[in-house]
Amino acid sequence: MAYGIYMLLESGSSKMAPTSEPAGWTLVTGGAGGIGHRLVKSLRARGQKVRVLDNLSSGTRGNLRGFAGDPGIEVIEADVLDAGALGSAIRGVDFVWHLAANPDVRRGGRETDLDLTQGPVATQRLLEAMRREKVSRIAFSSSSVVYGLPRLFPTPEDYGPLLPESLYGAAKLACEGLVSAFAHSFGMTAWVFRFANVCGPGATHGVIYDFLKKLQADPRRLEVLGDGRQRKGYLHVDDCVASMLHLTERTHEPVNVFNLGPGDTFSVREIAERVVTLTGTNARIEYTGGERGWPGDVPQQDLAIGRLLSTGFKPRYGSAEVVDLTILSLMPELGFSPVAPHG
Ligand code: NAD
Repeated sequence: MAYGIYMLLESGSSKMAPTSEPAGWTLVTGGAGGIGHRLVKSLRARGQKVRVLDNLSSGTRGNLRGFAGDPGIEVIEADVLDAGALGSAIRGVDFVWHLAANPDVRRGGRETDLDLTQGPVATQRLLEAMRREKVSRIAFSSSSVVYGLPRLFPTPEDYGPLLPESLYGAAKLACEGLVSAFAHSFGMTAWVFRFANVCGPGATHGVIYDFLKKLQADPRRLEVLGDGRQRKGYLHVDDCVASMLHLTERTHEPVNVFNLGPGDTFSVREIAERVVTLTGTNARIEYTGGERGWPGDVPQQDLAIGRLLSTGFKPRYGSAEVVDLTILSLMPELGFSPVAPHG
């Protein structure tokens, strides 16, 4: 069954898109999400026609509002697992950015089939649709959590064995395997990007988002899961998008695997302190204790980015700056008033 493809209108409503030209579209699954909508913006700035396939499970229509009236954007509000929608979405496409997935690592501990269906099952359906339609290029958003608890820091792309600790991580690793197998078996070119923690405007989840939501509920105290000594890399969403575009234009192996991180780390304790300071709440920070925030949490993540740097891309922001920028951009989005600087 053909599926409705919509154009966004200035009024905030939508209308059926005219029948697309036969080729030249770029498909972004998860294009209404925190990273996806920034990617869509950059692709449009490069003159590409972009089709978004998103079920709005964690992404929002608001993230796509800026594209209203743009005939170079088509939106299909549907699940990747919806065969009709996927068939319509893939038609006339020559590059797929596959970002749609459950983004919340903790959720997999409660809903234990979620990462399997939203991860490898959806990814296999997408790859199979690509094979049928002869779409030969795919970029996949993987994660640092595929490394499990590495013993080597910073952790390079060829570290192994890869033994993830969460169902989310297992799903990402399985997807990497499928992407690689389809690329080698059917002549596709694939990019696998292992992200550090990606933050910035429009984030829908993550530690900074969680801390702000907690302070919204109770500005007097901030509960931090774990002992606060977890240290991870925080990559700005614009560095994430710019590095992916840079790499897809310059690397051409059948499967190209890259860590995408800022090249440094920041602790959860430091993040909690920055959130309290920048919101001006003066909240008491309380730690639940233990080295992990939750079962499956990876307490130390420090991605080696030598492979990325060797291609001539250097992230613009370090982790500390990314944390501050993210807090300041999310505060108005979540209804916090700006705080006058001291002194
Ligand atoms: P996000 O939740 O903002 O974006 C995911 C998007 O996918 C959302 O718009 C959601 O509605 C959509 N989606 C989810 N399941 C879908 C389905 N079955 N069909 C159609 N649409 C679906 O999260 P994000 O931070 O932008 O993450 C994008 C990708 O990057 C995800 O695959 C995530 O796992 C991965 N990733 C993110 C981070 C990070 O720190 N943000 C780190 C590592 C990997």
